[in-house]
Amino acid sequence: MVNKTNSQALQQETNPTALSIPQLRSMFKGQVISAGHSDYDQARTVFYGGIDRRPAVIIRVRDADEVARVIALARETGLPLAVRSGGHSVAGYSVADGGIVLDFSDMRDLQIDVEGRTAWAEAGVTAGEYTTAAGAHGLATGFGDTGSVGIGGLTLGGGVGYLVRKYGLTIDDLLAAEMVTANGQFLHVDADTNPDLFWAIRGGGGNFGVVTRFKFRLHPVGSIFGGMLFLPATPDVIASFMALAEAAPEELSAIANIMPAPPMPFLPAEQYGKLIIMAMLVYAGDASEGEKVIAPFRALATPIADMVKPMQYPEIYPPEQAGYHPIAASRTMFVDHIGRPEAEMILEYLKSSSGMMAVTQLRVLGGAMARVPVDATAFAHRKSRIMANVAALYERLEEKATHETWAANFAAALQQSDSGAYVNFLGEDGEARIRAAYPGRTWDRLREIKARYDPNNLFRLNQNILPANGR
Ligand SMILES: Cc1cc2nc3c(=O)[nH]c(=O)nc-3n(C[C@H](O)[C@H](O)[C@H](O)COP(=O)(O)OP(=O)(O)OC[C@H]3O[C@@H](n4cnc5c(N)ncnc54)[C@H](O)[C@@H]3O)c2cc1C
Repeated sequence: MVNKTNSQALQQETNPTALSIPQLRSMFKGQVISAGHSDYDQARTVFYGGIDRRPAVIIRVRDADEVARVIALARETGLPLAVRSGGHSVAGYSVADGGIVLDFSDMRDLQIDVEGRTAWAEAGVTAGEYTTAAGAHGLATGFGDTGSVGIGGLTLGGGVGYLVRKYGLTIDDLLAAEMVTANGQFLHVDADTNPDLFWAIRGGGGNFGVVTRFKFRLHPVGSIFGGMLFLPATPDVIASFMALAEAAPEELSAIANIMPAPPMPFLPAEQYGKLIIMAMLVYAGDASEGEKVIAPFRALATPIADMVKPMQYPEIYPPEQAGYHPIAASRTMFVDHIGRPEAEMILEYLKSSSGMMAVTQLRVLGGAMARVPVDATAFAHRKSRIMANVAALYERLEEKATHETWAANFAAALQQSDSGAYVNFLGEDGEARIRAAYPGRTWDRLREIKARYDPNNLFRLNQNILPANGR
């Protein structure tokens, strides 16, 4: 760990916040990248477009000691600290103007204990990498719908994916974590050791420390029956799809993306731009049973394309387009019910967007996720029935106000009795929505734990939970 004298030496005398890059390079085995470095622009790029921040330095840490050194550097220089695992933060919190980026890109070790059905994964591993490696043993831990998302941010916020109804959230399979706290302590956290912290990091995001490694439970998930099903998006088809998905056995997790048909080669050209449901279906169980469960979805209308088939679970993450950095205006919420009137309203809003793409994503929840007690983890939305995300993707930042207004109005129109929010899909939505992510006693408990482990709010580039002492 950097002691105070060392760290002070890193600051130039004339400017207390300037860093000596050569000195930093001598202190870290990992890459130290600053402006002028050939990798600088690539290293400061995050998933979402329109985020053009210029950090003072990006440090690609190699181990927990280096993580502690970066934390000490941030503490002692006062520079903002951004923590980056997969770089998919919706608000772009994993890169900071003038700040320090603690980058996990080079910490991607994954140890799978096939017999014990557990895995230790370093924070830089992505959902896709983990799923492919575990899939080789017929095992899986549920992450989200996109392979390039980092397990770091995803896990700390909860983790809602293709196994959510069968096995619960990602955090429901989190067995332990190794962390470095704001004051440089190395902590092992699990149900018995530092249980308060273990509770807080299962949903509370990056507020409490930096996680270097996660230990997950693995489930036997070999072949599944699933894939993409494209249906015409009429009010009746949407409402019936949602009713079927809610009534389906827990082996089935379904995501309905309602959107204009993109020009994908396997879709008929005459469908391009027409509103469709691009459904992602995963039946994690016997293939012939899965086929029976999915048959009524296929029968809702003549499918525009049907790519549902028996497959190995990792195939659910197709290769992604390199260099894809959409600019998005989005809102997230939970809803109770999507019937015909709600479906009509969704279609009207999607048609009214002037974005290059507008989408409503509906995820049916319940099952194993809902059986965990509400207060067992910092993710408290166990009883929420459907997660809804609305987004407009656009090209020019000047259009931001238009699309943000559209997204805000759309979300307000869709709002029902469930006022909660899933923290991992929040952008810069403001304090009220962070509170909505942590309802009731969850918020007070998180603030107390924050005060204990990060009283000065060093970890604040996140959906921030202020310490109970109010600093
Ligand atoms: C295309 C896309 C698809 C998505 N799909 C899903 C989905 O299906 N299900 C779902 O649940 N979520 C989904 N998400 C949301 C995703 O879970 C969050 O954006 C998550 O924060 C991304 O994690 P990351 O490590 O890639 O991001 P990063 O930007 O690297 O990190 C996000 C934040 O998490 C914190 N953080 C990250 N790593 C650490 C660490 N090691 N220690 C401490 N704090 C850390 C930091 O506060 C950081 O700002 C999706 C996001 C995108 C962009």
